[in-house]
Amino acid sequence: MAEKRDYYEILGISRGASEDEIKKAFRKLAKKYHPDVNKEPDAAEKFKEVNEAYEVLSDPQKRQTYDQFGFAGMDGSAGFGGFSSGGFDDFGDLGDIFSSMFGSGFGGFGSRTSRRSNAPRKGADKLMRMTISFMEACFGKTETINISVDETCKYCNGSGANSPSDVETCSTCRGSGVTVRTQRTPLGMMQTQGVCPDCGGTGKKIRKVCPHCQGRGYSTNRTSVELKIPAGISSGQQLRIAGKGERGENGGPNGDLYIEIYVREHDKFVRDGKDILLEIPVSAVDATLGTTVDVPTIHGDVSMKIPAGTQDGSRLRLKNKGVVDIRGGKQGDQICTVRIRIDKNLNSKEKELYKQLQKLQSDPGKENIWQRFKRQFS
Ligand SMILES: [Zn+2]
Ligand SMILES: [Zn+2]
Repeated sequence: MAEKRDYYEILGISRGASEDEIKKAFRKLAKKYHPDVNKEPDAAEKFKEVNEAYEVLSDPQKRQTYDQFGFAGMDGSAGFGGFSSGGFDDFGDLGDIFSSMFGSGFGGFGSRTSRRSNAPRKGADKLMRMTISFMEACFGKTETINISVDETCKYCNGSGANSPSDVETCSTCRGSGVTVRTQRTPLGMMQTQGVCPDCGGTGKKIRKVCPHCQGRGYSTNRTSVELKIPAGISSGQQLRIAGKGERGENGGPNGDLYIEIYVREHDKFVRDGKDILLEIPVSAVDATLGTTVDVPTIHGDVSMKIPAGTQDGSRLRLKNKGVVDIRGGKQGDQICTVRIRIDKNLNSKEKELYKQLQKLQSDPGKENIWQRFKRQFS
């Protein structure tokens, strides 16, 4: 196969071209190379090339993929997975809860023929990310979010026409939105299918456009949505808001909006699923003799017994002091890891008592910790 030309180059437009410029360039070239008009031997090939370029660049999602991955993205062989790749580290500290927003890779590429048909199709899903605090994730919250949604224009019901009588079937494609040409080539008969150059694939022509939406058939509206974030949610989990994604085509419904949650870390508590991990400092004396302490938990202070003889690294469990199970199961626990901390600022009285203790422990009649250790080497 001959090397493929860049889609922008084919349409003779810049990489930053607007939707309108793309459409204009396509119409011009489609007319120029239409095999009915142009009898040059390579016209059909050029016409096909122009159609293909338009098919990709006129679809914002495909265009984004093409910009990112080039042709590799076009045959579905590379790069798909969309939002799961990267970007996560880049939005930790923004004041705005939405740090990043982009069309997702959910839709992928439909088959080539379905792209061209004018049947109603559901819009692509959209992904937004939201950062919430550690405690908000533990206890849940309701957040009102403001989003832009493309909604069907209510004056023309999405037709884009001033009145129903202003819509007529495209005579070039007889309403199918597709033109098919059969050609004799050295390799035999070949069928070329393309977007109808006269109606851009809609199958319709509009004599007088709707003044409210300028013929687009939709309007972009700001709307606020109540998002219920359930208690026990974790980073990476997604919430779905039905019908607030990209607009559908040919009267199809909007896609869905997915909100991916990112939970900020806490500087003391650590989540382990529905359990909470916390390191607690315990003095040598308390660990030796045992005591009761008020341990901070996400639910407030809880009294906990430190048993006599507790070792450094011991894990003590506070039942049901963790996070609720998002699936309705048993609530998690708080697991406290004991860290024995040695006091460096002893007053003279404390120092005196420790000295007495040290003397007692080096009594020849009693094996202390160090002697027990050394015995293992002899
Ligand atoms: Zn047409
Ligand atoms: Zn309208």
